[in-house]
Amino acid sequence: MPELPEVETTVRGLAHVLDGQVIARIETRRADLRRPFPPDLVQALTGARITGLGRRAKYGLIHVDRGQTMVFHLGMSGRWRIDPDEIGKHDHLVIETGAGRTLALNDARRFGSVDLVDTAALERWPQFAAMGPEPLGPGLTPGHLAKAFDGRFAAVKLLLLDQQIVAGLGNIYVCEALHRAKIHPEREAGKVSRPALGRLVPEIRAVLEEAIRAGGSTLRDYVRPDGELGYFAKDWRVYGREGEPCGCGRPVSRVVQGGRSTFFCGHCQRL
Ligand SMILES: [Zn+2]
Repeated sequence: MPELPEVETTVRGLAHVLDGQVIARIETRRADLRRPFPPDLVQALTGARITGLGRRAKYGLIHVDRGQTMVFHLGMSGRWRIDPDEIGKHDHLVIETGAGRTLALNDARRFGSVDLVDTAALERWPQFAAMGPEPLGPGLTPGHLAKAFDGRFAAVKLLLLDQQIVAGLGNIYVCEALHRAKIHPEREAGKVSRPALGRLVPEIRAVLEEAIRAGGSTLRDYVRPDGELGYFAKDWRVYGREGEPCGCGRPVSRVVQGGRSTFFCGHCQRL
C-alpha cells in the first residue's frame, strides 16, 4: 500500500514528465475508481498547462493553469505508469502530454480516487480541511504534539495515526519512529514526556526522509521508457520483524492496537 514516501517519490517522478507540459489528451477508461471520476474532468483538463505538482498527506496534486488541481490518491494498489508499451485493463486514466509522453494511472483494486478541486480552495476541500500538519513541514513540532496529546489516555501510537494530529503518517513509519525515539507504543499519549516528544519529531522526519531517499535513488528507473512508478523495499528496524533481534539483541515484539500490528522492542521502549 502506497505510504507518504511512495506518494512523494511518485509525485517527483511525475514532475519530471509533467511539469510545464500541456495536457494534449486525457481519457477516463471507466466511470469510477473508489468514487466516480469528476464528470467535467476531461473537458476541464484538455489543453490545460500543468503549472506544478505537489503532495498533501497521501494525496498527489497536479496543478493546472485554469485555477484547478487534479488530486489523486493511490488507494491500496494505485501506481502511475510512464510511457507504457500498451494500455492495459487496469489503466483507468490516461494522459498524453504535448511532448508525446503517456501517463497511465493503473489501479487494479480501484481503492484510489481522482478529484478536481479549485486550487485556491484546496485547504478547505473536505478531505484536507481537518487534517493536521504535514510530518515533513514546519507545523509538526514537539509543542504541537504536546498540545494534541494533552490529557489523552489513548496510546501514543494510535494518536500518531490520527490524520487530524499528523497528516499522512502510516503504520510502518509510526512503529519505526517510536522505536528510534525509545517511546513505548502503548504509553498513554498524555504521559509522553516533553523530552520524548523532542526526540520523536526528528525521528518521524528521519524515517520518512530516509524512505524518500531510498525511492529517490531509483528515480532514474521511474522515468525510463516503459517504466513504472513503483515502490521500494526498506530495511526496517522493528516493522515486520517479530521475534528477530532488535539492535540491542532482544527480540522484537508485536501487539495489535486498533486492529493493526505494532512492532516494538520492550527493552528499548519502556512503558
Ligand atoms: Zn531493543
